[in-house]
Amino acid sequence: MTGIDDLSKSFQSLGIPKTHATVGLTNLIASTKQYNSLFIHKRLPEYGWSDVQIQSLLFLFSTLDTNNKTLATCGNNEEDDTRWCGVGEREGRVFSSLVSQRHYGLSHGMGRSGDITEPQPKAAGSSALVKLALLLTLDALRRGSKLDAKGPAAYGILLPLCTGMSISLLLASIRSKEENSETKKDIVLWSRIDQKSCFKAIHSAGLICVVVPTKIEGDEVITDIDAMEAALSKHEGRVLAVITTSSCFTPRVPDAVDKVAKLCKVSNVYHIINNAYGLQCAKTSKLINRACVVGRVDAVVCSTDKNFLVPVGGAIIISPSKNIIGEVGKVYAGRASSSPIVDLFITLLSMGMNGYKRLLKERTSVLETFPERLREVAEKHGERILVCPNNTVSFGLTLDGLARPKEVDELDENYTQSTAKEITSFGAMLFSRCVSGTRVVPRSQLKSIGGQDFIGFGSSTNEYPHAYMTAACAIGVSIFEIEEFYVRLDKTLTEFKRKKKKKAQKIACN
Ligand SMILES: *Cc1c(COP(=O)(O)O)cnc(C)c1O
Repeated sequence: MTGIDDLSKSFQSLGIPKTHATVGLTNLIASTKQYNSLFIHKRLPEYGWSDVQIQSLLFLFSTLDTNNKTLATCGNNEEDDTRWCGVGEREGRVFSSLVSQRHYGLSHGMGRSGDITEPQPKAAGSSALVKLALLLTLDALRRGSKLDAKGPAAYGILLPLCTGMSISLLLASIRSKEENSETKKDIVLWSRIDQKSCFKAIHSAGLICVVVPTKIEGDEVITDIDAMEAALSKHEGRVLAVITTSSCFTPRVPDAVDKVAKLCKVSNVYHIINNAYGLQCAKTSKLINRACVVGRVDAVVCSTDKNFLVPVGGAIIISPSKNIIGEVGKVYAGRASSSPIVDLFITLLSMGMNGYKRLLKERTSVLETFPERLREVAEKHGERILVCPNNTVSFGLTLDGLARPKEVDELDENYTQSTAKEITSFGAMLFSRCVSGTRVVPRSQLKSIGGQDFIGFGSSTNEYPHAYMTAACAIGVSIFEIEEFYVRLDKTLTEFKRKKKKKAQKIACN
């Protein structure tokens, strides 16, 4: 770009007084300083940037890429059109200017077919953006989410894949590393968490999932360390990895990842932590840090949308090991979309460290009253809150009173099936009142996924003694939403019970 002095002279030649030009140009200097600081420190700026500033950086990146014009505007300027002759099959051509705008002119995606993290020759701008996005994310994880820079957040890779597919890719990369080992390592031990995507991730990597049961302690569903140890010795030699989960719906609480890490170290098996939305919880980060110190953690997988308020579609895998991260980039088949990474880059710049920390703090301040307010609603309707102090994101209240009472000699299966239906309809009723995100879990629900039967699906254990519902106090939630939730929950419970009573009376009359 022309120097500031030159610009000032040009302004004056246009009849703009020097004092005016100077005022305007100080903005330009300030904005250039912001860019420089980003490129030098490669850290999340303390304060969020303006939209104009972010957009102008994005357009700068797209100017550094080749072929960043749309077919719709082609032909306007011959010199511009023929500066590059694209004679490959993939030349970043975009027909629609709407699509081009949606991507700020960035159309090359990221990586090369050999490695998703490799710089793309045609796209210096995109490549730099992706690298910077990773560094900013790691900074947010270290300074914001309090994950150790020398522990779990030492290295990382951003993927345009959801959490489940990222776990699958990670497993595939670990498996290919182990290809030369003497025995066939084809088993993944999975501390049961009733979330289909993680279970399917193991199958899509072509591995066998052995479900390690959890156990109940008080209201909490916790890791069964003895069962994990037993599974490790039963399948000794064939276990490739153990997957634990550190963010989950109540009554399941985060796995004892530190204890499992110790077992994995002793048994010499990989340990992957599914930390889908755990970055918002300092307590969870502390647990993961500890696990890395006392035992073995190979990788931690986190969703970008659940943690950073971007559209669905991205994940970050972090690891204390450079090697693990490097391998993941290599197994990704093909060039990748950079869209989810651009979304994250924009969001982080817009938040700044301050904005991110503020969001984390806002969540904890809602958290101060959440359980208590939920308890009030529960008790008003003869229910109670599930006591799961180790889960600080997801909260539950019993719904036992919503099911009709059991007749003494009623066949168990009939009873569970019909009450399950009744209780699940409560979830639908909440949804129709515009309450989303709650999960209503009946007792002993049966579910089959990929040929494996799960009893008591939803609660991550076979025989949870309550029907219940969960609600999350997650990053980005507003106090207004939460206040309205208590009101609607209360109303819906009242209405549900009234309807049930009416139905019972009708049956009695007949
Ligand atoms: C959300 C979530 C997943 C799945 O996330 P996707 O990004 O849809 O794959 C897996 N496990 C847990 C614990 C989750 O919360």
